[in-house]
Amino acid sequence: MTLDHTPLPAATPVGYPRIGPDRELKRAEEAYWAGRIDRTEFARRTRELRRATRARLAALGLDAAAAAPESFSLYDQVLDAALTVGIIPDRLAPVVGADGTIDDDGLFALARGTAEQQPLEMTKWFDTNYHYLVPEIGPGTDLHLASTRVVDLFTESLEDGAGTRPVLVGPLTLLLLAKPQDGAPAGFDPLDRLDEVVEIYAELLAALRAAGTPWVQLDEPALAADQRVDAAELAELLQRSTGRLAAHPDRPQLLVTTPYGGIGDLLPALLATGAEAVHLDLTRGELPTTAQLAGVDTVQLVAGLVEGRSVWRTDLPTAAARLAELRARVTAAGGEADAVVVSTSVSLQHVPHTLEAETSLPAELRATLAFADEKLTELVTLATGGVEEGSVDGPRSVPRTFEGVRVDAVRERAAAVAPADTERAAYAERAEEQRRALGLPDLPTTTIGSFPQVAEVRAARAAHRRGTLDAAGYEQAMKDEIARVITLQEELGLDVLVHGEPERNDMVQYFAEHFEGFATTEHGWVQSYGSRCTRPSILFGDVHRPAPITVDWSTYAQSLTPHPVKGMLTGPVTILAWSFVRDDQPLGDTAAQVGLALRDEVTDLEAAGIRIVQVDEPALRELLPLREAEQADYLDWSVRSFRLATSGAAAATQIHTHLCYSEFNVVLGAIDALDADVTSIESARSRGEILEALEPGAFLRGIGPGVWDIHSPRVPGPTEIAEQLRRARAVVDPGRLWVNPDCGLKTRGYVETEASLRHLVQAAREVRAEA
Ligand code: GLN
Ligand code: ZN
Repeated sequence: MTLDHTPLPAATPVGYPRIGPDRELKRAEEAYWAGRIDRTEFARRTRELRRATRARLAALGLDAAAAAPESFSLYDQVLDAALTVGIIPDRLAPVVGADGTIDDDGLFALARGTAEQQPLEMTKWFDTNYHYLVPEIGPGTDLHLASTRVVDLFTESLEDGAGTRPVLVGPLTLLLLAKPQDGAPAGFDPLDRLDEVVEIYAELLAALRAAGTPWVQLDEPALAADQRVDAAELAELLQRSTGRLAAHPDRPQLLVTTPYGGIGDLLPALLATGAEAVHLDLTRGELPTTAQLAGVDTVQLVAGLVEGRSVWRTDLPTAAARLAELRARVTAAGGEADAVVVSTSVSLQHVPHTLEAETSLPAELRATLAFADEKLTELVTLATGGVEEGSVDGPRSVPRTFEGVRVDAVRERAAAVAPADTERAAYAERAEEQRRALGLPDLPTTTIGSFPQVAEVRAARAAHRRGTLDAAGYEQAMKDEIARVITLQEELGLDVLVHGEPERNDMVQYFAEHFEGFATTEHGWVQSYGSRCTRPSILFGDVHRPAPITVDWSTYAQSLTPHPVKGMLTGPVTILAWSFVRDDQPLGDTAAQVGLALRDEVTDLEAAGIRIVQVDEPALRELLPLREAEQADYLDWSVRSFRLATSGAAAATQIHTHLCYSEFNVVLGAIDALDADVTSIESARSRGEILEALEPGAFLRGIGPGVWDIHSPRVPGPTEIAEQLRRARAVVDPGRLWVNPDCGLKTRGYVETEASLRHLVQAAREVRAEA
C-alpha cells in the first residue's frame, strides 16, 4: 500500500460552523427557494461563503498545509452521506437525474419535500439541538456513487490555496441512523446493506485520492451511543466497514472520529481497523487506559480535549495536564507521544462563529466565553505547548466569580427543599377537587398554547424591541391580540382556553429574558437544521425570578371569559436543553433553581385566579443521555425539577404538561413520575403510536393524544378526528381523555387553524354523545 505520509496537523477541530458569521447560508438558501436569486447567484454566494471560511481558518492558525476539516454542507451532513451512496427512498426517486446523480434541487427536494411527497423525516442528532434527515433505505435501494460533492469541495479548496480535509459521516453511523423505507419487509435492517455501502465509500476514497487529498475524515459518532447492536457486534461491524476501507489499496489516510461521548472498550477494535488516525471525545469520555491503547503504535490519536458544544473557555492548564497524561500512556503502550494531536470533542457546528461579534455582553461574562473561533485559538495554544503551569499565553479559563454567578438566597432556598416540596395531594383527591372547581365535560377540548403569530404581532414585538413602539402601545397591541384569540376560542366552543402567547418570540428565550442568571447574545446563532438557526441564551448564574412574568397576560385573558384560561410556562428541562448552560455545577442543581423560579410563577398565577397551569417539557426526551447507564440519574433530576416547579399548586389547581415527540416509550415512566394532572402529547403525526403503548389502565391521569398534526397545513376532517378519539377512548377513560392538537399553533395560519379547531370541537361533541 502506498500512502502519502502527510502528518495530521498538531491542532485540528472535528468541524466548524457552516452557516456563516452573518447567517450567509440561510440568507442565500431562503432567497433561492423564494426565487429571488437564480441558481448561478446561489452558487456564487455559497462559493464565497466557503472561500471566506477557509480564509478564516487559515487566519486562525489552521493554515493550508494543516488540512482543516471541510465542514460545508448545503443542508445536513447525514443527507450528504446518504446522497453520496444513493440512499434515496423510492417515493423520492424522481429527484435522481437521468445520469444517476443528484443536483442541488434534488437535494433540497429530499430535505424539504415536493408538491407530491413528504420530505425525509427529521430527528435529533445525538444529544444535541441539531436535527438531521433520516435516510430511508430498503433491500432494493439502488446504491451507487450518486454524488461526488465531497470530491468537488476538495478540488475547490485547492483553488483557495487550502487543501481541506474531506469529511463524511462514516458508513456504520449512516446505516445505524437510517430507517427501513416504507414497505420494506419485516426483519430488514439497514445494516443488511453495509457491505455494498462500504464498497461505494471505497470508490469515493479512490476518487479523493486521485484528487490529491492526503486525509479523509469519517465521523462515527454512533460508537459513542448505545445502539440496537451490542458492543461485540459493533466491534465486528467496525472491522467490516472501517477495516475494509483501510484495506483498500487506493485511498487517502483515514481519520475516524468518535464525537459525543466515550467509546470505552471499543477503542482496541477501532485502533485495529487500519485507520491511520483515531479521534476520541475526552471531555465526556475518560482518558483511555494503557491496556485500551494496545495497537496505538501504528495510529495517531486525535485528542478531543476542547469541549465543542459549550460556550465556555477551556481550562487550559487542566487540558494540558490531561494531554501530557495521555501522551505518557501512549508511550507506555508502545506509541509515540508526539503523534498525539489536539482537537475538539465534537464539531464546532453547535456553537456560534465568534465572540468578536458580541458587543453587549457584560465584560466579566465575556471573558469566560469561547465560541468557535476562540476555541480554535485554544487548540493552537494547547498544540504549541503554550500552556505551562503559571505561564499561560493566550486564552485560558477565567474563574466565573462575578456578580450573579452565586446568589446566596437562591442557594439557601435550593438547599432547604424538603421532600414534601415535590409532593402534591394524591391524584384521586386532586381529580375530585378539580372536577368541582372546573366543571369540565368528558373529553374536554383545548389547545397547546400558542395561536398563529400573525404579521401584526411580530411587527409589534419588533417595533417594541427597536424602541419605535412604547410600552403602552406594545401592551395594547398584545391585549388586542389576546382578546381576539379569546373571542375566537369562545366562538369555536373550546372548553379550556389559552391567551395565545403573542408576547413570546420563543418559549425559552422569553423566560431567559425575564429570569436573572441568563445573558442573551446578539449574533450567537447556531444551526438547528438546514436554514433554521436558533440563538440560545447563556445560563451563567444562579437562576431566580425577580418579578412575575406571565401573570398580567394570563389574568387579562381570564378577565375576558368565564371559561378557564390555562397559564402557560416552559419547564426547567426544556429551558436547559435550549440554552447554553453553565458547567461549573451539576445540571440537576441548575434545573432545581429553574424549577424553583417557575414555582414562584405558578404560585402567583394561582393567587391571581388562574385555575389551570401548563408547564411545557417538549425537550424531556431530548436531553436523555445516550448511554442507558446514565439515564436513571438524568430522569431523576429532570422529574424532580418539574415537580419543584409544580408541587406548590393547590389540589384544586390543575397542572398540565405538554411533550411533543412520539418516541416517548423510553420516558413513559418519567412522564408518569411528573405527576401532572393532564399530559398532552404528539400523536397525530406518529399515527397514534402512543395509543398502542398505553395499555388500558397504564396511565391513570389525564391524557390528550394530539389529534391534529400541526406540522402540516392539512385540515383534518371531523370524521377522521372522531375516529382517533374512539380509538383513544378504548384505552382511556372518557373522564381522563382530552382533545387537543399535537402542538402549538404558532407556525400555522388562521384559516387552517379555525377550520381544524372547528372540526376538533365537532368530533369531541360527537364522541362525547356516544358514551
Ligand atoms: N406552549 C407552546 C406553544 O404552544 C408549546 C410549544 C412546544 O411544545 N414546542 O407554542
Ligand atoms: Zn409541542
